[in-house]
Amino acid sequence: MVTIKSKREIELMKEACKIASQTQKEVEKLIKPGISTIELDKVAEHFIKSQNAIPAQKNYPHPESGMPPFPATLCISINDVVIHGIPSKKIILKEGDIVSIDLVVLKNGFHGDCARTYIVGKTTKEKQKLVDITQQAFFEGIKYAKKGNRIGDISSAIGNFVNKNGFSVIKEFQGHGIGRQMHEDPGIPNYGKPGKGIRLEAGMTLAVEPMVVYGKPDICELEDGWTIITEDGTPAAHYENTILITEKEPEILTI
Ligand code: MG
Repeated sequence: MVTIKSKREIELMKEACKIASQTQKEVEKLIKPGISTIELDKVAEHFIKSQNAIPAQKNYPHPESGMPPFPATLCISINDVVIHGIPSKKIILKEGDIVSIDLVVLKNGFHGDCARTYIVGKTTKEKQKLVDITQQAFFEGIKYAKKGNRIGDISSAIGNFVNKNGFSVIKEFQGHGIGRQMHEDPGIPNYGKPGKGIRLEAGMTLAVEPMVVYGKPDICELEDGWTIITEDGTPAAHYENTILITEKEPEILTI
């Protein structure tokens, strides 16, 4: 079900989203060669709890029964890991890595969701371009996130921009509505046709999240049940914000 948030609910969403974006900034400060991804995770968890909020990805149930829930606060996905990488003391950041940090904060019953891809030190031109295009694709998409437009307008703008720049979006995962639930309707694919899908209304809150790969858009899941990697081993990037549809321009709640 697509939920339309009241003025009061939007105020509560904004609090969760603000903590989510602050958590990104806390983690970003620590991105450097030599740090383990579990250390980043601990800092994020501590910060979120210090704001009387809940790290909502931790213990999030796996969509297939029988698989373990997600064990950490952050999804940390390095290089060929597309999404849902699990933090570990054995995974150490290296110069040139691209590292996506995806996190969800729950506060006062509402969620805020955002992801960034950071570069460790200096990287290759190719990886730099991938990170830049992924972020820009989000902004291309939300140009169409206006009352009266349709979901397909956002989706096609993202997909076309990514393809035009020589990269591909993955089709198995998509953005989503967000609010009292981390994942609400509608789904927001990163490809599609303009004019298709549900019509946008003021008060909708959406997590728009291009997931872009350098090479072929084929992915596979590791045995841990979560980590998604590119099949050809080429790098991937991810960028996400929670936005609010208004009477005019969309508001980005997690920046
Ligand atoms: Mg997210």
